[in-house]
Amino acid sequence: MTTTFEPATMPAVKRQQLAHLTAQMDALKQGGTYFKLRVLDDEQGPVCSYDGRRVINLSSNNYLGLCEHPKLKEAAIAATQKYGAGSGAVRTIAGTMRIHMELEEKIAAFKNVEACVVFQSGFTANAGTVSSILGKEDFILSDELNHASIIDGARLSRAKIKVFRHKDVAHAEELLREIENEPGRKLIITDGVFSMDGDIGPVDKLADLAEKYGAIMMVDDAHASGVLGRNGRGSVDHFGAHGRVDVQVGTLSKAIGSLGGYVCGSRDLIDYLYHRARPFLFSTSHPPSVAASCIAAFDILENEPERIERLWSNTAYFKQQLADAGFDVGGVTTPKSETPITPIIIGDGRRTMDYSKALFEAGVMATGIAFPTVPEGRARVRTIMTSEHTREQIDQALEIFVSVAKKTGILS
Ligand SMILES: *Cc1c(COP(=O)(O)O)cnc(C)c1O
Repeated sequence: MTTTFEPATMPAVKRQQLAHLTAQMDALKQGGTYFKLRVLDDEQGPVCSYDGRRVINLSSNNYLGLCEHPKLKEAAIAATQKYGAGSGAVRTIAGTMRIHMELEEKIAAFKNVEACVVFQSGFTANAGTVSSILGKEDFILSDELNHASIIDGARLSRAKIKVFRHKDVAHAEELLREIENEPGRKLIITDGVFSMDGDIGPVDKLADLAEKYGAIMMVDDAHASGVLGRNGRGSVDHFGAHGRVDVQVGTLSKAIGSLGGYVCGSRDLIDYLYHRARPFLFSTSHPPSVAASCIAAFDILENEPERIERLWSNTAYFKQQLADAGFDVGGVTTPKSETPITPIIIGDGRRTMDYSKALFEAGVMATGIAFPTVPEGRARVRTIMTSEHTREQIDQALEIFVSVAKKTGILS
């Protein structure tokens, strides 16, 4: 016999306890930036169905189509059959499986570093690393557009945070000079690719600074993993900066097509994180299926470089066509994209959300992003190209972008 539970209705007096949240949601509705989660009905493909509507999908981080690659699926299924559905413990207690070690060794070899540790996500990799390698007396120099997980890690570390203007290496140096004689350690940190604007962080120049001032250099390569560098080795490879970045973070959740985050660096760094990074110590490791699909993904990066070539040629074509049609694709009031992330800058939050909704109705999934994810007045529809979009699909999407923009007054 199964027990069924009726969904409970909150009594009014309990509802009152969270009235401040309701008020904030009401304010979002007023401002036109309230959203409902769109629900994917099938695989995360170049064309797929959300909420029962077939759309050309320009919103996923599935850069190389690995989410639905048969080899990743097969690896996940085989690992589940052999090792079970879950790992059953945190890594430091009893939850380190051979397949977890295999993945870490595979990534370390791929990235050409001494060692690697895999976390549950890119978010926990960043937050867990920044918070554990620094303390109260230390300093963090952070790009103003760095990802939320870096900001949270910086706050958790209780180090003093100095924010430099976006990609402004001279400003970073100015801030470093101010604290040159302070006893604390200094960490310089940048995204390899910035997720909202698609521009590339000045990893090489910041590494120069780190060397000049004896600072630790760290890069978050979430959107560069599988996208930049030889076979998708990331921004350090892109800049030829091997051996100059102490801490390299990457994600397994975007181009790699599965889930997780990793940190690459010296053997001592990785050993230290095994002992001190709180998400590693206090949260259960990946199911074997996840580790297995990631291992399969790195084999594909090595063996199917044509995916990355297609990603970049699709990107170049799409960007050019959008710019030719008269869209603001960044570079005027916002940074200029250099990667498969192409924002269409609209400015006003409500207009952006309305445009995104109209695009969806017309057959294109391109998510609107407004404050506080991006600065006020710089709301945009963000697109991400993949290797799996056909030229036909891209052309069809472009047609929809233009016709909906003309209808809504975004283009004249
Ligand atoms: C997505 C992202 C992360 C988080 O990675 P997950 O694996 O999704 O947790 C971290 N940093 C940046 C810059 C990102 O874009």
